[in-house]
Formats: sequence, structure tokens, C-alpha cells
Amino acid sequence: MHSHHSHSGDYVAHGADPLEDIVDRAKQLGFDTYCLTEHMPRFDKKYLYPEEIEGVGNEKAIDQLKQNFSRFLGHAKQIKTREKDNINIVIGTEIECCDIDHIEYARTIIKENRDTIKFTVGSIHHINEIPIDFDQLSWNRCLASFNNNLKDMLISYYELQFEMLQRVQPLVVGHFDLYKLYLPRNTRVDPLSGVVCENENSVVVSEFSLIEMWETVRNLVIRNLKYIKLYGGTVEINSSGLRKKLKEPYPGSDICQLVKKFCDGRFVLSDDSHAVAHVAVCYLQLREYIVDVLQLQNVYYISQEDPEDTVTVKSMSIDEFKNHKFWNNSMLSRCE
Ligand SMILES: [Zn+2]
Ligand SMILES: [Zn+2]
Repeated sequence: MHSHHSHSGDYVAHGADPLEDIVDRAKQLGFDTYCLTEHMPRFDKKYLYPEEIEGVGNEKAIDQLKQNFSRFLGHAKQIKTREKDNINIVIGTEIECCDIDHIEYARTIIKENRDTIKFTVGSIHHINEIPIDFDQLSWNRCLASFNNNLKDMLISYYELQFEMLQRVQPLVVGHFDLYKLYLPRNTRVDPLSGVVCENENSVVVSEFSLIEMWETVRNLVIRNLKYIKLYGGTVEINSSGLRKKLKEPYPGSDICQLVKKFCDGRFVLSDDSHAVAHVAVCYLQLREYIVDVLQLQNVYYISQEDPEDTVTVKSMSIDEFKNHKFWNNSMLSRCE
């Protein structure tokens, strides 16, 4: 089994446990491949998070992010070599994509470290330069920056994602619909304009697929998926959405249907762990999602035959996936 996206408390402020403990847990659970993809540093102080600045100030915090990242790469390499007979560790990085400058900076970092970084998880965490997965207040501020027009906010998200896809061509596209994390389930929206409001036409967002409701948004999703297919990327099914109490993983089944149709169903699995308890979290539900809800024919994964090799994308049949010995591990538990 595989996970293509993880973090640790050693190298990111919002992580909880040491990287070594996370890898130990991945070994215990019987992963074949576990990808270490720490966030790449941010270089603009306006994108620092409060916990990064605390006690050190802006300049030092920026320096620390850089140092943390190079220490991460060194450590990950050590683990990879040491564990090569136990588990296949693939080293990558998750791109933040705060804005275009940051995407360009990401390209430089990837180029500079191309001997170590074998692939990237391309994720969008900001819209209009405001983080959308940090807390409710920031998310609300982001919506307000679009005059409370949720449709415009999603359009901006998928436009920035397209910029990132074109400039970086990440092998794995991260949490495809992250904007839903802090979208309150009882939000009412005008289906025509996309404005969050309570008028006689407004509907509750949790009762509808926003992708089906708004053709403009759907067309952007389709354009992005066709592009991912064109350069040979994959879309992760990320179980952290379930860990964070969303109804579905990222992406939701409405987008997954489009991935099947326009991106050959090129899905990989990720737990996006930030702590030991997150390793393989909700994977049993992910299995049901893949087998019963999405009814996929294949599951994709990243493969690296030799530690020095470049990585390739491979697939296994759904029967191979369903019958994998990983699922028999008694340590695997359902998430609440
Ligand atoms: Zn992310
Ligand atoms: Zn992540």
C-alpha cells in the first residue's frame, strides 16, 4: 500500500511527532511505499503563520523555514538509505502555492535539489493571498475578499491551480477541493450569482454539488484535469478530509467522477499525516470510497525501483488493491 503525502513535527510547526516515529508507524502498518513530502519554505513574511513567528520574529522565522527544509531533506535521505530493505521511502515536497511568486520560487527549490526531491505534491493553500486551511476566521476573510461570492472564490482557486499545474507539473495534485474544509455546511448561497446570502432562491451548500451547480467552475475543473492527464500527473485521494470530519475525503465524489472521465481515473492514495496517529488514518473508509463509491478499475502509485532512479507512475488492478495484505493488519482501525 502507499501514501504519497506526509509531514512531521520535526520540520513543520503544525506537525506533532518526530519524523522517525512516523516512519516507524508506516513500517508497522505494512506500507510498501511511504512518501515524505515536507512543505517547502515560504520566503515572503506575509505568509508566515503565527506559530512560526512566535518568539523569533519575521526574519528569523524565514531563515528557520529554509534551514528546516534542508535539514528535512538530509534526514529523509538518511532514512531512505537506512530503511531500503524495510519500506520504500520516496522523497518529495509539497508546494504551498501562496501566489505566482511562490510558485516560481518552488520551481527554483525543486531544481536546486533535483538529486533528492523526486516528485512534488502540488497543492493550493491560499486564495487571494489568504490561507484557506488555517482557521475559520481566515477562511471567512478570504470569502469576504470576494464580496462573499463563493463561486468567484472557487473560480480563483482553480485558476491559481492551473497556473501551478502549468509551471510545476506536479506528479501528485494535492487535496483537490481544499476550500471545502472551512465551508460551513449550513451556508446558504444564491445558485445563480454565487453570493452567500439568505434570499428566497438561496440553497444550503451541503445539499448540492457546487461543481454541478456552477458550470464555470466545473469547466475549470475539467480543463485542469485534462491538463493533468496530458503531462502524466495524478490526483490524490487524501484521507485527511475524513480525519477532519468532512463527509468525504478530498476530492469529493463529484470531482472524482470528473477525474474518472477526464483524467483516466489516475488516483493515488495519501494520508497527509502530520503525526503518528495520522498514519493510514481512515484508510479503511478510503478503501470503501474507492471500491464501492467510486468503483475504480485501477489504483495508481509512484514507484522508484532504485534510490537514485527517477520515479514512475504505475497502477494496480482493483482486485489487487482489494486483496492487498495491508488490509489484514489488525493495527489498522476505522476513523471515528
Ligand atoms: Zn496541503
Ligand atoms: Zn500536506
